[in-house]
Order: sequence, then C-alpha cells, then structure tokens
Amino acid sequence: MQLELLELSDTKISFVLSGSSPYFVNSLRRALITDVPKMAIEDVEFHLGPIRDASGKEFESIFPIFDEMVAHRLGLLPIPTDLDVYTFKDKCKCGGEGCPSCRIMYKLNKMGPCTVYSGDLEPLDDPKLAIRDDLIPIIKLTDGQAPLIYATAYLGTSAMHAKWQTCISVGYRYYPEIQISEKKCDGCGKCVERCPRKVLRLDKKKAAVEKLAACVLCESCEEACPNAAIKARGDETRFIMGFETDGSVPAVRALSYALKKLEDEFTEFREKLGEELE
Ligand SMILES: [Zn+2]
Repeated sequence: MQLELLELSDTKISFVLSGSSPYFVNSLRRALITDVPKMAIEDVEFHLGPIRDASGKEFESIFPIFDEMVAHRLGLLPIPTDLDVYTFKDKCKCGGEGCPSCRIMYKLNKMGPCTVYSGDLEPLDDPKLAIRDDLIPIIKLTDGQAPLIYATAYLGTSAMHAKWQTCISVGYRYYPEIQISEKKCDGCGKCVERCPRKVLRLDKKKAAVEKLAACVLCESCEEACPNAAIKARGDETRFIMGFETDGSVPAVRALSYALKKLEDEFTEFREKLGEELE
C-alpha cells in the first residue's frame, strides 16, 4: 500500500491510496466518522438571579431563548482536544467524578447588549484550552441580560451523539483511468468541450488527458464521443480520499487515531478467534 499526500492543513487532508481495496478504504471511512473522539460540551449549569457590574448597574442572569437551545449550541462548538491527554469519563481513573484527564470546564459571563461568541467561553484550568475558532456566534444579548453559566466538556464519539463527530465530509473515489484510442479518435474535440472538470485537451488534433486526478468519472466524455474512442473507468486498487475535521483535532491526528482503532479491533478479533479455535 502506498500513500501520496495531495493536500494537508491543520483541519483538512486528502491523499491518494494505492494498492488498497474498496473494503479497506470503506472501513477507514467508517472509523473516521464514528470512532475518532473529541471533547464536546455536555453539561451546562445556568445561574439565576441578579448580577451587578463595577458601576453597580443591575443585570439579570438570563438568555433571550430557552436554556436548552443555548446548551445545544454550546454542544456543537469545536473544543480543542488532545487525544493523548483526554480519556472517556467512564474509563477515567477518577471513576467518572470528573478530573483534568476527562473534562474541560468553561465559564461564560457577558453583559448585554452584545453578541456572545465562542471565544467568550473562558477555560477554568488552562488558557490554552480556549476555543480556537473564537468568532462562532452563539447568541445576541439585549440590555440588562448578563447570563452566568459554567459548561463542562467530556470526551465522546459520534456513536453517542452527532456533536462528538470529529471528521466531516469523509469521502473517497476511485482513481480515474482514461483510455483514448488513437485509431478511433478523429480530433473532433467534443469530449474536451463536454467535460465539466476540464480533464481533457486537444493535442495535435487528438484528445489527450490534461488533469487526470480531476476526473470524477461522470462519463460525459464517453457520451460526447461519436466514435466511442474514449473510455473512463475507476481503478479499484487506487483511491482519492479526503476529509476535514471541525477544528477540535488536527486532521493527521484524526487519521492516525482511526487507523490505530482499526488495527486494535482486528487484533482483538484475531485473538478471540485464536481462543475459540484452541
Ligand atoms: Zn477523570
């Protein structure tokens, strides 16, 4: 198996995988979607009652919408997650009570009128845990509103709830193979014109491939060719795969986590099978 990187940033990755099979890449796709965990806000504590600012002006600790809706919006924020540090609450050494290995706590206290953004959530333990995408709007407060809340994030996977889904737009496609018969091609250029991804060009009055990787196997070229000179097929051993993360986990880390998870599951399966056969 060979891997060739096409694009890599903190939250996005795409690569060509050669010498593989549809079964393997599909397992990897499913592991990326359901098995890569992240931290997400699960508990929110709303404080009620009056709050005073430095000048003595009185505010009320309320939101203009239902608390449940605020909690839901907070749950969807990308909480920075170091997968080497955090563990699931029910598997933590603290026994599920909550400790720095299994939870992150935030405080929010803003006085209206203003817009509350993700960056207004202050981490209680380590300032490095502030949400990096700090301009995600959560709600608009009017004059006299100054909600005080404490929010706690825990580790989870999308099998529990979609808010714990780290990887998004996970997809793959067969690497394209385009064959052009020199004998049959009369250089009419209809395939070049029809291709929506500008994969083909005319070279010395014959159709030629310009950008192979851009082909999505839509077969428009085959339909356009009056002489059946062109064939576009997918290579079932070579794939273009890519995905993004919501920003909570770097894309490379999410990929290595999913691969390790697959490896662990197959190792366990092999060991169980070995025990049964003994
Ligand atoms: Zn703990």
